Amino acid sequence: MTDSKQLPVRQEPPPFRTVTVAATELVSPHLQRIVLAGPELDGFEVTEPASSVRLLLPSAGRTELVLPSWTGNEFLLPDGARPAIRTLTPPLRGPAEPNLTLDVVLHDAGILTDWARTVEPGATVAVSGPGRGYAIDAAAPNFLLAGDESALPALSQVLSAIPRSTLVHVVVEVIDPDAVERLPQRDGVTIEHHVVSGDTTPGDAMATALAHVPIAPDTRVWVAGEAAAVQRVRREFFTGRGIPRSHCTIRGYWKAGRDGVDGT
Ligand SMILES: Cc1cc2nc3c(=O)[nH]c(=O)nc-3n(C[C@H](O)[C@H](O)[C@H](O)COP(=O)(O)OP(=O)(O)OC[C@H]3O[C@@H](n4cnc5c(N)ncnc54)[C@H](O)[C@@H]3O)c2cc1C
Repeated sequence: MTDSKQLPVRQEPPPFRTVTVAATELVSPHLQRIVLAGPELDGFEVTEPASSVRLLLPSAGRTELVLPSWTGNEFLLPDGARPAIRTLTPPLRGPAEPNLTLDVVLHDAGILTDWARTVEPGATVAVSGPGRGYAIDAAAPNFLLAGDESALPALSQVLSAIPRSTLVHVVVEVIDPDAVERLPQRDGVTIEHHVVSGDTTPGDAMATALAHVPIAPDTRVWVAGEAAAVQRVRREFFTGRGIPRSHCTIRGYWKAGRDGVDGT
């Protein structure tokens, strides 16, 4: 008889590389840029837009970093506790680039947000990755991209990687209107942005806008943001509008009211 409570075995993620914070920059009141460096980044290559990286932080209330082990299903610290791991979007990079720059959205509170707000150069963290990114269909006639602030690093990369002759419509929901200025702009790209206060239901403005946006046949869709909001988008696109699932990549990047959702 099999044990129904046995956890499924998952493929072990790439090992953690220990790195040092080389610099930090408060780009806007809602965005902290963190530059990581160190010899263990050697060979860390990112080739696909919207790839992911796991960032291992010191556990809450600690300053030293303890590396976890893979149990076959998850990472655990030597004392059996769950490590503080959060997912971010690495920039595309060659294997010999010295630095790895991550953009962290600052929200009310969370282990990553609190760390990014206060960390100083010289601190030690670790990264594992990259996780799979988005394969762009270069033959697609149109793209529809959408996301919230946490998805802007990935969305910018996807936008830059789409062939220049292809029409792209972008829908973004932001708290900081300046965030939109950081998106690459070119002819053939229209950007529709919805500025919200932090008090509204996250992703509501984006999902409502997407429910009304015209979508031409064969459009490829990439959407990322709050989990419930993107679930609403999935329902609307798959059931409501009959858009083929194979044309859509729709990902929950975080979940309102829940810590550390690992969407990779
Ligand atoms: C593939 C992928 C790529 C990602 N890339 C990036 C990236 O480049 N930059 C980035 O900043 N984030 C990115 N994220 C999202 C990021 O991993 C989460 O926002 C993360 O949970 C934040 O961790 P935290 O410790 O600050 O908050 P948590 O401890 O996870 O959560 C604490 C509280 O804050 C809320 N919360 C979490 N995230 C947000 C948010 N973004 N806005 C408002 N409230 C939030 C939670 O619902 C919870 O109530 C990505 C996620 C995935 C899956």
